Amino acid sequence: MTVKAVDETVLCYVGLGSNLDGPDQQVLAAMDQLGAGTHCQIVKCSSLYRSAPMGDQQQPDFINAVCSIHTQLGPHAILDYLFDIERDHQRIRYVDRPGGPRSLDLDLLLYGDSQINESGLTVPHPRMHLRRFVLLPLSEIAPELCIPGRGLVYELLNQDQIKRQRVSRLPVQA
Ligand code: ADP
Ligand code: MG
Repeated sequence: MTVKAVDETVLCYVGLGSNLDGPDQQVLAAMDQLGAGTHCQIVKCSSLYRSAPMGDQQQPDFINAVCSIHTQLGPHAILDYLFDIERDHQRIRYVDRPGGPRSLDLDLLLYGDSQINESGLTVPHPRMHLRRFVLLPLSEIAPELCIPGRGLVYELLNQDQIKRQRVSRLPVQA
């Protein structure tokens, strides 16, 4: 991976999702892996949520969660790190099936309050404000959070088209 540090620690948010090969364990293991290296420290992890697939309906429900992390990596380097973890989980990208099933999807939702529009990297993540499976876990760990250019998480959650999406919090495992 590219390791390019910035001068200060940045608070980022990462979205996690899986609907293949033991989704709960895929997401929990990815959370552990995110915090295990020297690249970032976990600040908070949401509960796990079950969500209906969006777009392509011919696939299992997803398990989703969100983590906040501290990192000194730059935004491209942190995305490369997320891709490394996806590869460790045998993530396969089917070119003919975008939005299709995956063992692990890690998205860089927010990088501080940066707004980035570069090849291969858009931050805030371009669809996060449309997805209840992102907004609900985000509201659990950062209820007052504002998505730059989009608005407050709890206000976005109140929109009818968001409320209609099927997402439910899983009971905490003992
Ligand atoms: P999705 O997560 O939207 O279902 P993919 O995981 O296949 O789709 O990602 C598609 C592309 O989105 C990746 O090649 C990646 O470069 C790009 N991308 C742009 N911005 C981001 C971001 N903030 N987080 C994750 N991927 C991003
Ligand atoms: Mg992704």
